[in-house]
Amino acid sequence: TGPVTPSGSEPDLPVRFDAPAIEIIDLHKSFGDHEVLKGISLTVRPGEVVCVIGPSGSGKSTLLRSVNLLETPTGGQILIEGIAILDPEVDVDRVRTRIGMVFQQFNLFPHMTVLGNLCLAQQRVLGRKRAEAESVARENLAKVGLADREDAYPAHLSGGQQQRVAIARSLSMNPDMMLFDEPTSALDPELVGDVLAVMRTLADEGMTMMVVTHEMGFAREVGNRLIFMDDGMIVEEGDPREVLTNPREPRTQAFLSKVL
Ligand code: ADP
Ligand code: MG
Repeated sequence: TGPVTPSGSEPDLPVRFDAPAIEIIDLHKSFGDHEVLKGISLTVRPGEVVCVIGPSGSGKSTLLRSVNLLETPTGGQILIEGIAILDPEVDVDRVRTRIGMVFQQFNLFPHMTVLGNLCLAQQRVLGRKRAEAESVARENLAKVGLADREDAYPAHLSGGQQQRVAIARSLSMNPDMMLFDEPTSALDPELVGDVLAVMRTLADEGMTMMVVTHEMGFAREVGNRLIFMDDGMIVEEGDPREVLTNPREPRTQAFLSKVL
């Protein structure tokens, strides 16, 4: 089937509804002569939650950052909803608005209120009027359990609340998929649960997600698939329960024996 344009979306970036959400084909990335991604291939279907685990330095962040073009791969292909995004003719900014990303650090603007943080990109990037942006923002603040904090400044929120604001900010752009890079790693342990609960709700609602995490419970219960990366390669992937309880590869076994 050829490209079709859904009503309401940008006419110059057609969506193939039958395409995978994310298709990564033989992806390579080097920094100088250090090759950190050594041929990653991976398909994420719409609505799927794929968790990625692996030791520090194995290339997890570089992989996620490549998917929304914060890094420029040195080889291979990435298709987002059927669009080859490494094609120089593709409008990178438009592709990026389809993909929400949440980092370990929340990166909220300290001089703006929660509501201001949520409205900024909606107005600047999507061209929404302030009233519409506020209404979308409030909807998403309610979703992350922070409806009563819209006037707060980030410094007056806990780390867990700030991360939930960051998630709400991403959702306010109405992305088709969300990438999470260790979203709970900077949080005090007692604040992790609220953030994971929000992510679980998103997953239940059918959001397509790639999640780099050390939270094995989340990966087991929420993930549809678990990927173990080491040294720039996918070493093992499969059903999370299967991989976590019955890892086949010695490198997966060694990693899990340290973290479980
Ligand atoms: P992970 O997220 O699994 O810890 P990263 O993707 O952050 O791994 O990093 C993989 C490797 O790439 C590491 O050796 C890291 O030092 C290197 N690396 C990451 N970003 C850069 C960069 N901008 N310049 C040079 N090397 C980098
Ligand atoms: Mg990382």
